[in-house]
Amino acid sequence: MPAITHHIPDPMIAAYAAGSLPHAFSLVVASHLSLCRDCRAALGAHQAVGGALLEEAAAVAMSQDAKSNLMAQLDEPAAPEPVYDASGIYPGPVMQSLKGRPPRWKTLGMGVRQNILFEDDLGSARLLYIPGGQAVPDHSHNGLELTLVLQGSFSDETGRFGVGDVEIGDETLEHTPVADAGDPCICLAATDAPLRFKAFMPRLLQPLFRI
Ligand SMILES: [Zn+2]
Repeated sequence: MPAITHHIPDPMIAAYAAGSLPHAFSLVVASHLSLCRDCRAALGAHQAVGGALLEEAAAVAMSQDAKSNLMAQLDEPAAPEPVYDASGIYPGPVMQSLKGRPPRWKTLGMGVRQNILFEDDLGSARLLYIPGGQAVPDHSHNGLELTLVLQGSFSDETGRFGVGDVEIGDETLEHTPVADAGDPCICLAATDAPLRFKAFMPRLLQPLFRI
């Protein structure tokens, strides 16, 4: 795999360590972390700071029988949460969202497909499948957009993004990503607000595709 050149910005790793990122973004960050040793090291540093803060925090007393209640419950059988490992090009956190199944693609037209992984009031995360040479309609953003490449590569006004690279888009970015020729480009993308398409047709279709 070629070297990763586009990383998660440090403040976002700090927010991930603090547990304050919306789930859709956490999914992209966790997936990048599983592919990127540099960002894992940065996360470790932030977690060490969090650990130091916990060590220093003043203790708050719990109820008298908290410990004995906890110890009693440890003996009760619990249904294990299924854990899904990385599979093929899909990192563990993506397989967790897919519950271990392959993606179920929905066609968006022009060969572009998506599989929505997660949606709530704070954002959504989806897999995107873009045939080699195909452009995603020109769009800008109402909020933040994170795109992690899982297969192939794409290029836009800001550069080229290969496997493991993350593009961070915000209100100031208006771009036309084009999948590079060759393998289809498969990405994990998270947004916290609907995209804004310039052209009329994509805008018309937007509610249909929920992008
Ligand atoms: Zn990284």
